[in-house]
Order: sequence, then C-alpha cells, then structure tokens
Amino acid sequence: MAPIKDLIEQSIKDNPVMIFSKSTCPFCKKVKELFKSMNVTFTAMEMDLLDNGTTIHEKLKEMTGQRTVPNVFIRGNHIGGADDTMKLHEEGKLMNLITPPSENYTYDLIVIGGGSGGLACSKEAADLGRKVAVLDFVKPSPVGSTWGLGGTCVNVGCIPKKLMHQAALLKHGMEDARLYGWSYDEKVDHKWATLRENVQNHIGSLNWGYRVELRDKKILYKNATGKLLDAHTVQAVDKKGKVSQMTAQHIVLATGLRPRYPPIPGAKEYGITSDDLFSLEHSPGKTVMVGGSYVSLECAGFLHGIGLDVTVIVRSIFLRGFDQQMAEKIGNEMQTQGIKMKRPAIPTKIELIEEGTPRKLRVHYKHLETGEESSIECNTVMFAIGRDACTQGIGLENVGVKLNPSNGKVIVADNEQTSVPNIYAIGDILEGKLELTPVAIHAGRLLAHRLYGERNELCDYESVPTTVFTPLEYGCIGLAEEDAIAKYGENNIEVYHTNYTPLEYTVAKRDSSECYVKLVCNKSENERVVGFHFLGPNAGEVTQGYAVAIKLGAKKSDFDRTVGIHPTVSEIFTTLGKTKSSGADVSATGC
Ligand code: FAD
Ligand code: NDP
Repeated sequence: MAPIKDLIEQSIKDNPVMIFSKSTCPFCKKVKELFKSMNVTFTAMEMDLLDNGTTIHEKLKEMTGQRTVPNVFIRGNHIGGADDTMKLHEEGKLMNLITPPSENYTYDLIVIGGGSGGLACSKEAADLGRKVAVLDFVKPSPVGSTWGLGGTCVNVGCIPKKLMHQAALLKHGMEDARLYGWSYDEKVDHKWATLRENVQNHIGSLNWGYRVELRDKKILYKNATGKLLDAHTVQAVDKKGKVSQMTAQHIVLATGLRPRYPPIPGAKEYGITSDDLFSLEHSPGKTVMVGGSYVSLECAGFLHGIGLDVTVIVRSIFLRGFDQQMAEKIGNEMQTQGIKMKRPAIPTKIELIEEGTPRKLRVHYKHLETGEESSIECNTVMFAIGRDACTQGIGLENVGVKLNPSNGKVIVADNEQTSVPNIYAIGDILEGKLELTPVAIHAGRLLAHRLYGERNELCDYESVPTTVFTPLEYGCIGLAEEDAIAKYGENNIEVYHTNYTPLEYTVAKRDSSECYVKLVCNKSENERVVGFHFLGPNAGEVTQGYAVAIKLGAKKSDFDRTVGIHPTVSEIFTTLGKTKSSGADVSATGC
C-alpha cells in the first residue's frame, strides 16, 4: 500500500478542489455547501469513515500545520480551513483560484457584439479579474446608416425612442399649459433638425463613455466583425478589411437583431427602418408606418406627437403577445389622437413619385378583409415588421452552435450555454426569451458571475416588467388576461379593474377614456397577481415600482393592504374593488 503521505499528495494533485473532511463536522458541511452553491465540483475525503482516517488526519497536520478540518486544497495549493475558504469567497477571490485565468488562450473571454448584453457581460468579467476582448461592428443599413459602440438600445432603440417620445409629450404639455394659466402668443413650431442633433449628441456622449469604460477596465475593444473559426478561435475583420485572430477559453455571442424588410417592390430602395429614423437628416414628413407592434406604434406615436401626418398599416392585431384588451385601447387612443390606421392591411409596393428632401413616395396596400387595393402618398415609409437575429455568416455552423432553423435564434440551456459547452449566448438572439435591454444586461452580468465569480444565480426571465411608450403609455408585468385564462383556467381567474382619470387631465380637459388598469389574479393561489396592466401617464415609472411586489409573489390582498400616495395615478392599484366577473360599472369617478 502507498504510504499515507503519497496518498494525500496524489489526492491533492488529482482533484482541483480537494477537501479533507469529517462527515459530521458542521464546518466541513459549510464549506461543501459553499462549493455546491458555486456549482464547483469538489472531492471530499471523509476521514472519519475511513479505517486509516486517523493516520491520514495526523499526517495532514504534520504536512500543513493545521489541526482542524476541513483542510482545503485548490489546484494543489493549501487554502486552510472553513474560515480561510469563506474569507476568500467573501473577497471574491475563490473562483479565480479554482479556474485561474487561462494561459492557453489569448483571452479568458471574447464577446462578439458590443450592445446591451455584450458590454454588461464583458465589463463584469473584467471586474472579476478576467482578460476580455469585445468585438463590435455595425453593418450599414440598406440606406447607409451606421453608428457607434453600444448596440441597438443606445443608438437606434430605447434611448433615441424615449427622447423622441418625450418631445411628443412636451407638445401635449404645452397644450395643457394654457389651461394651467400659461399663455404664449407665438405659433408653436417643432424643428426636427434640433431634435435630431440633440438626440444624436447625447448618443455620441454615450458611445464615447462606453469606449472609455472599456479602456479603463483594460478590455480590448475592436471595431471589427467577429466570426468563429473553431470553438475557441475568433477571426476579427475590421472595416479596412484587416484580418486578425484571437482565442479564448469562453466565447459569448451577443450580436442582437436587425430590422426585417418585406419582400415587396421598392421596400429596400425607398423604405427605412428604425435603424435610420433617429438620424434622418430631414424631418420624415408625412409618414407611413408598417407593423402593428412595439416599434411601429411607438415611432408612429412620437412622429404624430411632434406634428407629422402618420398612417399605420397593421396586418392583424396590435401588439401581438400583449394583453389584447389593452392593445386595442392603445390603438383606439392613437386613432383618437389623429393617427390613421389601415387594418387589416399589408403594403404591396412602394413607388418613387418625386425625388427631393424629403422625396415623395406612393405606398400601395391591400385591405385583407375586403381585398380592396389602395395607395397613400407620403414622404417616408418605415418598416417595423420584426427583427432578424444576426447569427448568419458568423461561423456558428463551423462549430455546431444549434439555432432554431425557422428564425435563426440561438438555442440555449437555462444557463445560456449553447450546444457548444464553452460558447454562451445572451440578449435578443436567444430563442424564446425576451427582447429587452435590461434582460440582456441582467443575463450578461449573471453569466460573467457564473463563469468567473462566486454567484451561481440564473437569469430569471419570468415576470419581467415592460412598457410600451405609445402616446398613452402601457406598462405590464406577467401574463395577458387571455394567457392567464389559458394557463390557469377561466374559473381560477379573477380580474380587478377600473377606468380612471389622472388628476392632471382634469384641468387640462384631456380625454381619459382609455386610462384603465387591471390586475389579473389566480384564485387558486389566494389571488396571486399573475398579470399587472396599466394604461396611463408615466407607465414605465409606475410599473417598475410594482415589479418588485410581483416578483415577490404579491397577492391582491397585499395591494389592498398598501396605503396609496395621493394624488397619484399609481395609487389606483391600492383601491381596486370591482371585478370583471361582477360586470359592475368601472367608469372613472372622482378623488
Ligand atoms: P444589441 O444591443 O443589438 O447589440 C448587438 C451588437 O452586436 C450590435 O452593435 C451589432 O452591430 C453587433 N454585431 C452583430 N453582429 C456582429 C458581429 N458578427 N461581430 C461584431 N459585432 C456584431 N428595449 C427595452 O428594454 N426598452 C425599450 O424602450 C426598447 N425600445 C426599443 C426601440 C427600438 C426602436 C428597438 C429596435 C428596440 C428597442 N428595445 C427596447 C430593445 C433593445 O434595444 C434590445 O433588446 C437590446 O438592445 C438587445 O441587446 P443585445 O445586446 O442583445 O443586442
Ligand atoms: P415584432 O416582431 O414584435 O412585431 C412585428 C409586427 O410587424 C407585427 O405587428 C406583425 O404583424 C407585423 N408584420 C410582420 N410581418 C409583416 C409583413 N410582412 N407585412 C406587414 N406587417 C408585418 O417586432 P418589433 O419590430 O415591433 O419589435 C421587436 C422587439 O423589440 C420586440 O419584441 C420588443 O421586445 C423590442 N422592443 C421593445 C420596446 C420597449 O420595451 N418599449 C420598444 C420597441 C421594441 P402580425 O402580428 O400580424 O404578425
């Protein structure tokens, strides 16, 4: 039999995490639980269960000078006991000892795509002491729009959209202002060029900020297209065509989506998408928007809000996937404000009538119920008919990353791991997940922690709050009423709801007929709120606050026990008394 010393040394050498333990010792248990929670594989030798355990323990004392158990070794190095291990964990140093930065690769992590998800993941990994590279490249849109570092949200998504929505809200504010006693004689005029310039300047400052942050964190940023050559090798091609290669232990795909065009004549020649709208040199003028979802309705809303003539061509329903009662109300409100809807209809051809700035176009469309064909003259046609995953031509087929063949989205496990073990994917390109900035950021940060940090938390894609920034904003969390009924059964669902009038609307004499809220509750779980729906001003702010309660499993009774803040619109959720099933009148009443 090998001498005891050899046995100990061999165990330490063979096992990256070796714990000399006693099965009944609470400190040993604590350390083992810690490694389990970090998803770290360890080997524990329970010395009290071995015939020669006492001899092993004696020899260990002699070798390490430590009398107590557990006696922990990581990658051959003596760590110490439970306190020493816990201290390293608290200081965030334990994981680095278990999986030290790789010497076999140029980087620990290469992230392809410097948008919301990619930047969040790379910054977090760098903070955890890893060597990181980020590749980001924006392929120009068909009309030539391009932008800086930061991805969709910052450049052509959430940020410019919300700022332009704000421009539209200000117009409503100015209309209200007269009834609040303000008077101004001059004609109110909106200048697209000023809005565009100020929004683009803000975006420019964000682009710059990201570059500085990456530099400060010693992350290599390459303005280049990334392509996988094998599971650990990425080829980078910059805009001058210069090719380089780099390797990494882990690769994260975060390449996002780009707008889709319909296969109709003139679409790419004369149409634009949200990739072009926010940086248009001239006002879009009279605009036809195609699509019935988030991007279309939000952009239609703010363009109309700043004074433009807007028509929306909607193929079927508004806001597929959202609560349809709320979606219809949004559509009604937009029409009341003066946005024209062609529905159900699809565009069939785009023609140029006259060049110029802006030029004149004709959009031919077909009404899907009557079959009638008609056309609209306009200056701009914008397509918002969905977005395709940027997963083609980037070598995923070279390494066997599995995609959904119908939409090119990446199939991942709950930990965002693709079918290739060292390759992960986050953000909009994931199959079956939400296409939202905070989701991409959250997933990116947690992934970095699971790879290099001490936390083992998975990204929770359930009950994610969101807001549609249409003229009347809509915030929601959880299930649509129809989805709740499908999931829990009609008999188990109770809906508490009401119309209401925001106080600010009264003096301003604004129409509040679509201001409405509802809580969808599951009776079989003591009326747990499974769907939260708010249609009204500041929906993003209202919804974000309640999202914590929903995450914690709030029941209708918790809303009832909560004291409201008066006078706010948000307090309406603390006083909801009428159920849909009762059929009671829910017209707005006073304070
Ligand atoms: P992206 O941010 O799209 O980043 C991907 C990056 O990878 C891009 O820079 C791309 O150019 C780059 N890339 C692609 N291929 C390669 C390659 N091979 N090599 C190198 N780089 C590559 N979400 C919200 O939460 N709230 C909102 O209000 C909101 N509004 C939106 C409004 C609009 C008009 C749009 C279009 C989207 C909006 N979204 C909103 C969605 C949000 O923008 C996305 O969910 C988010 O940006 C996704 O982040 P991502 O990291 O997955 O991808
Ligand atoms: P969506 O895929 O959500 O919607 C596409 C819309 O276009 C649908 O109304 C669809 O109609 C219609 N459509 C599809 N094909 C055609 C066609 N050939 N002709 C006419 N109409 C067509 O895409 P979006 O671009 O609106 O949004 C993409 C994602 O961006 C969303 O999933 C969202 O997560 C994110 N986003 C988030 C925002 C926020 O948080 N506030 C704002 C904007 C975007 P049909 O229903 O009939 O299929």
